[in-house]
Amino acid sequence: MRQKNPDIVFKPKYTLKHMDDGYQFTFYCAYCDYCYTTGWISASSAEEACVLTEKEARKAFNGCHCCGKWICNDHYDMQEMMCVKCAQNELMEDDFSGK
Ligand SMILES: [Zn+2]
Ligand SMILES: [Zn+2]
Repeated sequence: MRQKNPDIVFKPKYTLKHMDDGYQFTFYCAYCDYCYTTGWISASSAEEACVLTEKEARKAFNGCHCCGKWICNDHYDMQEMMCVKCAQNELMEDDFSGK
């Protein structure tokens, strides 16, 4: 499967748990309480673990092409490829310029 937004740096809000045998990320939507917790990832560093889990987490999160925030599917406008807030702003600008 192709990645949805390969050109946006994968940088959602997250918390990280670390134990001897690996890491576990919980990623959060920028706008709501939605979170996604990964399985335990065996890696030597947090950076490596993040790279390993990125593909999995990208299925649950979308990067806004406008503001770069990472949001859940509910806060993502698939057509505009933006978060709902940026899509709303676009809409308002269209209204102003149209008059
Ligand atoms: Zn959300
Ligand atoms: Zn946005």
